[in-house]
Amino acid sequence: MSPANLKLNAFPVFLRVEGEAVAIVGNGGEALAKARLLSQSSAVLRIIADDAEAELRDFIATTGAVHVDAAYDAVHLEGAAMAFAASGDESLDRRVVEDARRLGIPVNAVDRPELCDFFTPALVNRAPVAIAIGTEGAGPVLAQMLRVRIDRMLSPSLGRLAALAASFRAAAERLPKGNRRRRFWSDFFAGAPAKAIEAGAFAEARDAAIDLLASDKPAEGRIALVGAGPGAEDLLTLRAHRLLMEADAIVYDALVPEAIVAMGRRDAERLPVGKRKGCHSKSQEEINALLIELGRSGKRVVRLKSGDPLVFGRAGEEMAALRDAGIAYEVVPGVTAAFAAAADFELPLTLRGVSSSMVFTTGHDLKGNSLPDWAKLAISGATVAVYMGRSVAAEVAGRLIEAGLSPDTAVAVVENASLGTRRRFHGTLADLPSLEGRADLTGPVMTIIGDAVAGANFERSEPLAARKCEETAPVAEGVQQ
Ligand code: SAH
Repeated sequence: MSPANLKLNAFPVFLRVEGEAVAIVGNGGEALAKARLLSQSSAVLRIIADDAEAELRDFIATTGAVHVDAAYDAVHLEGAAMAFAASGDESLDRRVVEDARRLGIPVNAVDRPELCDFFTPALVNRAPVAIAIGTEGAGPVLAQMLRVRIDRMLSPSLGRLAALAASFRAAAERLPKGNRRRRFWSDFFAGAPAKAIEAGAFAEARDAAIDLLASDKPAEGRIALVGAGPGAEDLLTLRAHRLLMEADAIVYDALVPEAIVAMGRRDAERLPVGKRKGCHSKSQEEINALLIELGRSGKRVVRLKSGDPLVFGRAGEEMAALRDAGIAYEVVPGVTAAFAAAADFELPLTLRGVSSSMVFTTGHDLKGNSLPDWAKLAISGATVAVYMGRSVAAEVAGRLIEAGLSPDTAVAVVENASLGTRRRFHGTLADLPSLEGRADLTGPVMTIIGDAVAGANFERSEPLAARKCEETAPVAEGVQQ
């Protein structure tokens, strides 16, 4: 696309309308739609309708808009700050447009972009904050979709927070320019005042803001251990997204896709710390130290982990280090890989009469000869989700069969769960060792074992090939107890 195509043909501005007249010409639904939109402002609506439909009449009666109950005449536009031709009658709308232009009043004609001096946006209203979405006619449906998305992202109390901010502007101007002032505002919008407003405690919010003004202590860092989900961007929680957009620094693991990191604040520091084949990665101690350092420097940090942060994410160590260092943190859950894999397979993790418990495990702690503690649960019918299980697939299968689980137990394997690149495999416990030999699986792999797996939908999955050589899969004698 050439840069010329990236230029806006309609430039957004915010027009002052408080106490100004806005003229709307039309009797029916189109006039009513514009009147409703404009009634979100403090403009004085002047509706020129000689034969207003019932709904429009009701609107006029309940909102106190000025009703000009007469056939349209140019004189009705006089003094208006803007005008809308919304009669639905092309020749009348044209007349309104011509009259308005002659009178120097910017005009909008409903559904006739070629006659418009300006367009009305799809609006997210958190007065005094407004977000206007324009598409230059590319599509009202697109604009509405964006509106819904943005609306969901913003706290309903944003307007009240902005109003409180306006009342603190003069006081904040007296703070030294630069860091101190910026910190006041960022603590104001993300710290105690914002939290109090969110909880509906206006007076408390004001007191918290006054405290912030007086406080000379260095800003306190906050760390959020955030689950990024299994990979798909739209499986991120709204809370995770909000924190990402407020973050000063994002510390993330290798399994977190770039697209999710990119959803963070544009100027946030981005610090990859995870293992990627062939690249340097930090040790857990180094990561702990980094989080503490960032926290001490007063940063808002998002520690982004794939899936859920508390499932095989070493969050326990990070939280302990932060607690010891006296740095505040919170945890934001995410969709763990087992859930994403189950969803991809339409696999009921619990199934009435078949499985009523579930185990999250990893094949990596299969040390020595003792059976893992979860093997018993698997035998008693639990659904087992194995994280990081690819390179130890044979060991896992072997131990389970040794413990008495039938080699015919159903197994589902998903590579890259939730992503467009996902692959699904199904088979039995006896087939599981073949995973280890598959060089074609380069993404993360989730293995789910148990009778409930039989309830999955195998339509779009490939068979897990049975491994020929059996030395790594001790499907041995005496497996049944
Ligand atoms: N905290 C993460 C797990 C991290 S351990 C969570 O809750 O999901 C890393 C392991 O998670 C991988 O080896 C793999 O077994 C699993 N995993 C993570 N993302 C996955 C995905 N998109 N598809 C399949 N398995 C995944």
